[in-house]
Amino acid sequence: MNYNIAVVKGDGIGPEVVTEAIKVLDKVGEKYGHQFNYNYVLAGGCAIDEAGECLPAETIEICKASDAVLLGAVGGPKWDHVPGDQRPERALLGLRKELGLFANLRPAVVFDELADASPLKPEIIDGGLDIVVVRELTGGIYFGEKGFVEETPLGPAAYDVEQYAEEEVRRIARVAFDMAMKRDKKVTSVDKANVLESSRLWRRVVTEVAAEYPEVALDHMYVDNAAMQLVRNPKQFDVIVTSNIFGDILSDEASQITGSIGMLPSASLATGNFGMYEPVHGSAPDIAGQNLANPIATILSVGMMLRYTLGLGKEADAIDAAVDKFLKAGYRTPDIAAGRDAIGTVECGDKIAAFI
Ligand code: NAD
Repeated sequence: MNYNIAVVKGDGIGPEVVTEAIKVLDKVGEKYGHQFNYNYVLAGGCAIDEAGECLPAETIEICKASDAVLLGAVGGPKWDHVPGDQRPERALLGLRKELGLFANLRPAVVFDELADASPLKPEIIDGGLDIVVVRELTGGIYFGEKGFVEETPLGPAAYDVEQYAEEEVRRIARVAFDMAMKRDKKVTSVDKANVLESSRLWRRVVTEVAAEYPEVALDHMYVDNAAMQLVRNPKQFDVIVTSNIFGDILSDEASQITGSIGMLPSASLATGNFGMYEPVHGSAPDIAGQNLANPIATILSVGMMLRYTLGLGKEADAIDAAVDKFLKAGYRTPDIAAGRDAIGTVECGDKIAAFI
């Protein structure tokens, strides 16, 4: 089969990690008989430099016409002086909006070999950890009505509105339940239904959707408790589904539990199978251009692309297995070396490709 992938290398370590992920993807293509065609497009700081804006219309067009999008990272100190609405990072918001990416999937996995990197005590993560946070990405307080009130009894004030329509909750809940069906069949819906009206609607709709998935166990948890449970007993979770703002915070917390930002992939999905895939980390300007970046987050993102957008589960498994073999063989990039000898970005890509 032939697949068209729009590729945004971006800034900082973006081009380095994307190059390695493509090396691995090409190896998968070779082994399983697929042809991946790459349409390289500009977004972020490099787009400001070359095209005068962080998200050129051509980029959006090509992304829309592709089967999936692979993105490295955008941003860096070079563009810190650029006004807020034109900054490189705005390209991400623009892409999410233009591509209708309403579901953000962030797995937080602790690999046995890297358990030492977790800030949690060994007994808490013993036996590994494998959670996915499914975050609603295009609604809620980040996109709600906002404004200023010049005069209130307590002086000038500002407000942001949290609003969710039933359909917005229904579609993200279905993503979470579909995901749970492929995993341990457990969904935890996180809200603040003891205080927020929008959370009460959220809880009601998620419960309705659960009826379509009788095999999946659903529980509800208040967000403050979820934040505690993630560090107290994270192994109780399989799939966590939550709103935009709660998901923003909890997915970062879940990432930290793994202790290795260079290992964390993510997917943002639209209706149908279309998706944008990117590492959780940023452009890491402090290590850019030095062959120091860990490309595994981006390599695992490509694995998610194969699984969730292209429907190539066997090929996705091959990527996960190759990363596992790489770690078991004792290879490490500097960020996860913990005192051992380390190899560079390019060598890491070479080794993982060889393990495919
Ligand atoms: P960052 O994730 O880029 O870096 C944080 C720390 O983690 C740094 O010390 C960095 O060296 C390290 N790190 C990150 N990825 C790594 C990897 N693959 N291998 C080894 N070490 C890695 O976050 P930051 O420093 O807060 O942001 C830097 C720039 O990236 C900023 O301009 C920010 O706006 C942007 N950013 C972009 C995205 C994105 O494109 N999705 C996300 C977050 C931040």
